[in-house]
Formats: sequence, C-alpha cells, structure tokens
Amino acid sequence: ESLINRIAAGEIIHRPASALKELLENSLDAGSTSIQVTVKDGGMKLLQIQDNGCGIRKEDLPLLAERFTTSKLTTFSDLSKLTTYGFRGEALASISHVAHLTVITKTKSNNCAWKAAYVDGGLVPLKAGYTPDPKPCAGNNGTTIIIEDMFYNTPTRMSALRSSSEEYARILDIMTKYAVHNSKVSFGCKKAGSLSPELSTPSCSDTYQAIRQLYGHSISKELLHVTVSSVSDDNTDMDDSEDPEAWSAEAYFTNANYQGKKTALLLFINHRLVESHRIKRSIESIYSGILPKGSSPFVYLSINLDPRSVDVNVHPTKREVHFLNEETIIERISDAIQQKLAGQSQ
Ligand code: ADP
Ligand code: MG
Repeated sequence: ESLINRIAAGEIIHRPASALKELLENSLDAGSTSIQVTVKDGGMKLLQIQDNGCGIRKEDLPLLAERFTTSKLTTFSDLSKLTTYGFRGEALASISHVAHLTVITKTKSNNCAWKAAYVDGGLVPLKAGYTPDPKPCAGNNGTTIIIEDMFYNTPTRMSALRSSSEEYARILDIMTKYAVHNSKVSFGCKKAGSLSPELSTPSCSDTYQAIRQLYGHSISKELLHVTVSSVSDDNTDMDDSEDPEAWSAEAYFTNANYQGKKTALLLFINHRLVESHRIKRSIESIYSGILPKGSSPFVYLSINLDPRSVDVNVHPTKREVHFLNEETIIERISDAIQQKLAGQSQ
C-alpha cells in the first residue's frame, strides 16, 4: 500500500519546485506577509519554508498529513465555490510519502509553538526514543515546513531530477512569479548556510513595481497595462458577486520593441499559477506579427473568475486550466492587448 501511495504522491510532487508551489500557496492561504525559503542541494536535501501566517492549531497536527485533510472545505457544496488555492488536502500528505516532513507551527492563541514529524501520512517520533505526538518548542507565530531528503524512497523520481542548480533555478522561477503576483508579501530565498539571499523582495507597492524589481529595469520602461472585464458600461448596476459568468482580467506586457529571448508568460487564474495552451498561443500570435524574429515578449496576466466557472476537477499536477466562456474571455483580453500595442506603435 505504501508503494502505491508513493507512486501517487510522486504524480503530485514531481520535483522540489512542485512541492514549493504547494507550500507557497498554503502560506498565502494562511494570510502570510513574509515567506522565507531555505534550500540545500536544489531542494533535494532540504526545502524549508517559513511564514508568518495564521499557523495550524495543535489539535489539527495529528491528521495534518493524512490524505484529504483540509481546513479549506467544510461541506461538499464548497467544492464548487472555492476561493482559496487549496482544495484537496493532498499536498502535505503527498510530501510525507516521498520525503521526511517536519512542521513547526504557532497560532496567535497558543503561547508556544508545536513541532511534529511525519512519514507516510502519519506522525512519527521527532527523535529515536520519543513518542510520535507533537512536542512544544519555541517559535514565532506562523508555520515552518521542513522537507528533507526528497524522493529518498522513490528512486525513479530521484533519477528524473536534474542537477541541483537546475532544480534551484526552478524554485527561484516559481518564487519570482508568486512574488510578482503577491507584491505586498515579502519573499526571500537562499541556499542553506549562505548569507546573501538569491531572491529578496521587499513588499512592493504594486504589481508594476514588483515586475520592475524582479524582471529588470529594461522591462519597466515599456510595460503596458490593460484591464478588461465582463461588465460593460451599459450594465454597471449588475451585481458581480451573483453572476457566475462575471470575470475580470489585468495584464502588464512589453511593447513591440522588447527583445526577450524566451516568452515569459506569468498566468494567474484566481491567484493560482497555471498554464493554458490556448492563452499562450493567443499571446504568441499577437506578438508574432510585431516582434522581430527571435525576440519574445514578457506578459503578466491575472484573470479572476467565479470559482464555480473554473474547472476544479483537473488533476493537481495539470496546471492546464479550463474555464467557462474561455474562448470569449481570451478573445476579449487578446483584443485589448492588441489595441494597446497598436496604439503604442503610432
Ligand atoms: P489544502 O491546501 O488543499 O487544504 P494541504 O495538504 O496543502 O491541503 O494542507 C493541509 C492543511 O494544512 C491546510 O488545509 C491548512 O489547514 C494546513 N496548512 C498547511 N500549510 C499551512 C500553513 N503554511 N499555514 C497554515 N496552515 C497550513
Ligand atoms: Mg495546499
């Protein structure tokens, strides 16, 4: 049974960066304003994430790494109205099947932190000779998740990993994207033992500032901006919150002079970093007509939809997302970007 669990877990947690993405989303769900990551060996030896969010109640610790344990779903009907990132309660469970997981956490109402270790979905002793239950310890409000020896028990996953520098680059890439989207949160990432972090964002005032800080000054000079939404002018008294087809989108993108080497598309749907081949193709076709051969744009696009209209049944590893009225929405956004670009070149 544990072998099956490991294989299933490996489908969700492919590599250190995919574990990190889940942990970042948990920390953001917990309302954190600071998220600090420490990495050893590209995250394979150690991946630690410390946040200052709401913490986990002590009584929730025993079942924390059990599959489908989630604090984000109270009734079945919630499944269709999810507004937070997580909904499956599978991330920590999966991680515990492919790595050693330790959690240190403190809520405001507890006067000390609690520490617990997990393997294969359940609590294990923190040290040989200890009982497996959580132990009190010192700690700040918030949660620290420590993942060690990722894939120690799943050699096929281990051998599919690249060099630690490549895994580290993926970690930085994910963090940078979340830092852009969550400009008010301060993110840090460093290698264990190193004094200078590779990534360190102050809480920026807004997305524009964050892109400018994280993706370079050269971009900021030529960043264009549009917002688009389902609400048309003659229809402004419509109550958004009740309309399952209401949506809004915001984009920052480079102009025709920008000469990036690789298309950078930062796509967030309901604040979750996702992929959409349709959106990617649409963006590429807009720029293919105006950019010189070999150069590529930078595009940040955030779309907010009624959670009921987003396909929540996609497998967690499939970042490919589908949503209601997809074609129309993509067309509206593409048109707005295209018009802005055209206006600029005159
Ligand atoms: P999900 O996010 O889908 O609920 P996870 O396995 O990612 O499932 O997390 C399980 C539960 O653990 C969450 O529902 C949440 O209650 C708690 N949790 C995980 N990480 C944190 C964190 N950083 N801060 C507060 N609570 C957390
Ligand atoms: Mg989660």
